[in-house]
Amino acid sequence: MTKQHKFQVDENGFYGAFGGAYVPEILYATVKSLQEQYLPIVESEAFQQEYRQLLKDYVGRPSPLYEARRMSEQYGCRLFLKREDLNHTGAHKINNTIGQILLARRMGKTRIIAETGAGQHGVATATVCALMGMQCEIFMGATDIERQHTNVERMKMLGASVHAVRTGNMTLSDACSEAIRDWCCHPADTFYIVGSTMGPHPYPDLVARMQSIISEELKWQLQEKTGRDYPDYLIACIGGGSNAAGTIYHYADDERVRIVLAEAGGHGWDTDHTAATIHRGTPGILHGAKMLVMQDDDGQIEEAFTISAGLDYPGVGPMHCHMAQVGRTEVLSINDDEAIRAGYELTRLEGIIPAIESAHAVAALSKLSFRPDDVVVLTVSGRGDKDIETYLANPQEPTR
Ligand SMILES: *Cc1c(COP(=O)(O)O)cnc(C)c1O
Repeated sequence: MTKQHKFQVDENGFYGAFGGAYVPEILYATVKSLQEQYLPIVESEAFQQEYRQLLKDYVGRPSPLYEARRMSEQYGCRLFLKREDLNHTGAHKINNTIGQILLARRMGKTRIIAETGAGQHGVATATVCALMGMQCEIFMGATDIERQHTNVERMKMLGASVHAVRTGNMTLSDACSEAIRDWCCHPADTFYIVGSTMGPHPYPDLVARMQSIISEELKWQLQEKTGRDYPDYLIACIGGGSNAAGTIYHYADDERVRIVLAEAGGHGWDTDHTAATIHRGTPGILHGAKMLVMQDDDGQIEEAFTISAGLDYPGVGPMHCHMAQVGRTEVLSINDDEAIRAGYELTRLEGIIPAIESAHAVAALSKLSFRPDDVVVLTVSGRGDKDIETYLANPQEPTR
């Protein structure tokens, strides 16, 4: 099934110089058994059948590939939107949580933990826990609990316990640390559902495989709509890197395809208020893996800043560190105001309100120059319902 590509994780859990599994000794056995078991389980026919059935009937896949004609005209190309915003729970995150909970069940685990920032991964995890009747504990920074209140209420309604994390800046990075701490206390019965292509090996690979359904669908959808199964450009936003990983997975080796990723510049990647980790970061170890991390000269993690809660993380997944370093991907830093403007533009030209995370990808369009027959695929990672207040606090004039 899943094709191997040359940017695949190696047998030691690395992508070039990045990745690995740097975990406390008490987790060695747990992580090792996950490393040994995940591929046989995920590649088994029984798993694939259950996973794909749920993606179809519960998540609503395949997600449409929509040709955005007015936006195409605006940018002088053939623009297609991969509509992950139409998935159940409103984003791509559920592709991953469905897969991981099926894995957890097959490994005999009974208790689920997860970290969340904006609350999207928390909601996607609480959703699949309700679906499978599993105990669910979500770790979330106290700051995020306040600013993402609706998602907290959704998680509670779904039956999850939401634990307020009051260390550090009380945001996503602290929630990750707290989830790892909890995992150390309950390694035997607990499965940690990681929300992005980060964490110790095998998580980055596991999450990328779960999201690879995005590019798997793109192949036949493009064939149907354009007569060839690859685009000239793939564009996605990148926080930890999971929707980007899914979008590029089956095209990583295809040099005909240009890959453009949009990270969160905040006020600008060269200011103190940024989450542009690939522009700004240096190699370091965070939450179990070696990656590019925003840190000071003493290795203290610097706080990330962006208007987008889902991109607000001082690290980025190891696969993306490697692909950017070798020049396979082109990474643009998109500032808050550019993302907001692009979010309004997509709303007014196509009637699609994107998540502010996804609006970063939309903003990348204006930084590229296309030929009229270029086929451009842009992943709309999520819908903007959760961001309406932020959009309205930053009003824009109609573009047309
Ligand atoms: C969480 C989230 C992201 C960022 O996470 P990645 O792992 O980088 O994909 C992007 N878009 C939406 C809508 C999200 O919820």
